[in-house]
Amino acid sequence: YKNEVTPAKEVIYQVFNNFKMLYPEFKFTVDDDLKKEVMIAIYRDHFEQILIIIMDNAVKYSTERKEVHLSVSNNKRELELAIQDFGEGMTQENMDKVFHRFYRVDKARARDKGGNGLGLSIVQKLLDSYNGQIMVESSLEQGTIFRVDLPLVVNEEKSNEL
Ligand code: ATP
Repeated sequence: YKNEVTPAKEVIYQVFNNFKMLYPEFKFTVDDDLKKEVMIAIYRDHFEQILIIIMDNAVKYSTERKEVHLSVSNNKRELELAIQDFGEGMTQENMDKVFHRFYRVDKARARDKGGNGLGLSIVQKLLDSYNGQIMVESSLEQGTIFRVDLPLVVNEEKSNEL
């Protein structure tokens, strides 16, 4: 997938607006630090899928407070995303396992929420293949933040001029 180029902001807002439509009972907020569009080195469908899986979990594991907060920024090399919910959260032990295939925190409870425990393992695989990263911060009954980093597309023409 080395040469894929995707406009990050465009895809983020597209997914975000779809979630707003699908879940009108939720409050979705964005904190966007990007002044202009940035290009990320990933196939568009894959970036979309990553966002959908994480946002879908944020909605699925929310409790009373139906709110999902997204923050977007970048450094020289990477796009930095954080998706935060205020739902059931998870323990440290579970935080280490949620990226494993078929892992689900509470099998009985989780069953009525649907899903196989595959979503985050797919996200992890995709990010690995694009040299991205994912990290989770969570605390029980407080909520969860998933942080995703993805490499920006470097302007090859400029570096070739040297
Ligand atoms: P699916 O295969 O449909 O994605 P899933 O949600 O069970 O099902 P994952 O997305 O891989 O699978 O998530 C694994 C587990 O991590 C979930 O079952 C859930 O226990 C926990 N989890 C994921 N996201 C959150 C979140 N935002 N808050 C709390 N727990 C979460």
